[in-house]
Amino acid sequence: MRLDLSGKIALITGGSRGIGRETSLLLSQAGARVIINYNRSKEEAERIRDEMVRRAAEAEIFQADIAKPQEVKALFEHISKTCKRLDILVNNAGVLKDTLLLSMELSDWDKVHDLNLRGAFLCTKFAVEMMLPHHSGKIINIASIGAIKGGRGQTNYAAAKGGLISFTRACADELSGKGIQVNAILPGMIVTEMSSRVRKRAGESILKNIPSGRFGEPIDVANLVVFLASDKADYITGQSIVVDGGLSIS
Ligand code: NAP
Repeated sequence: MRLDLSGKIALITGGSRGIGRETSLLLSQAGARVIINYNRSKEEAERIRDEMVRRAAEAEIFQADIAKPQEVKALFEHISKTCKRLDILVNNAGVLKDTLLLSMELSDWDKVHDLNLRGAFLCTKFAVEMMLPHHSGKIINIASIGAIKGGRGQTNYAAAKGGLISFTRACADELSGKGIQVNAILPGMIVTEMSSRVRKRAGESILKNIPSGRFGEPIDVANLVVFLASDKADYITGQSIVVDGGLSIS
C-alpha cells in the first residue's frame, strides 16, 4: 500500500524536534508540502527545512508559541495567505511540568493545559475554518497513554491529554459529516528529549513492562500519523490509537 500525500498541505506544530520532526519528514516523503511550526528550536527547524528543500520537497518553517492565541492567529493568517488551504493538521506540540499533586502550582497546571489542550483547540478551530470550504481534512492529535494509565506527578499532563482525547471525539462527531476526520494517537514511552528524564530515572523498570521489549521510536508514531493523514483512513474518525509496544496492557 502506497500512502500518497502529493498536493496536500500539512501543518505540524512543534515539528522540528522529536516525534514532530519525524512526522514532518515522513509527511514530506509522502509528498505533502509541510509547514513546520517551532517555538524555540529555530536551528533544528531550519536544518530540517533545508534537508527537505534539498530533496526538492516544498517546506517552510514558522515560529509561533502555540500557547499564545495571538501567535496561533498569526501562524494561520500566514498559512491562509501563502498556501490558501490546509489539508492536514498535526497537533503535536507538547510540554510536561511534572510534580506531585500537593506541590503542583496553578502555573504548572496552566502551562501544560495552555499548550497541550488549549493550543490544540485553537489550531483545530483555525484549521477547520480552512478545511470546511473543501469538504475535506485530517486532524491528528498527539495525546499520550498518560491519559489512560495515570502517572505519578502527571495530574496536569494526564488531564490535558485526557481532555485532548475527549476533544478529538467531540470534534469528530461534529465534523465527520463535513469530510473532516479527527483522530488521536496515544504514544507510550518514545525516545525523545521529553522522555529522557524518566527513562534515565526508571527506564529499566519501565522496559520490563513493555511486551515488545523496547522503547518506541518517533518513527513508530509518525508512521501512524501518515496513515491517518491519508485517504486510506477516510473511514476512521474519533478514535484514540495507542502506540506503546503493549505498555498500557501489561
Ligand atoms: P519533545 O522532543 O520534547 O518536543 C516537544 C516539541 O514541542 C518541540 O518540537 C517543541 O518545539 C514543541 N513545543 C514546546 N512548547 C511549544 C510551544 N509553546 N509552541 C510550539 N511548540 C512547542 O517531545 P516529544 O516527545 O517529541 O513530544 C511530542 C508530542 O508527543 C507531545 O505532545 C507529547 O506530549 C507527546 N508524547 C510524547 C511521549 C514520549 O514518550 N516522548 C509520550 C506520549 C506523548 P521547540 O523546541 O521549537 O520549542
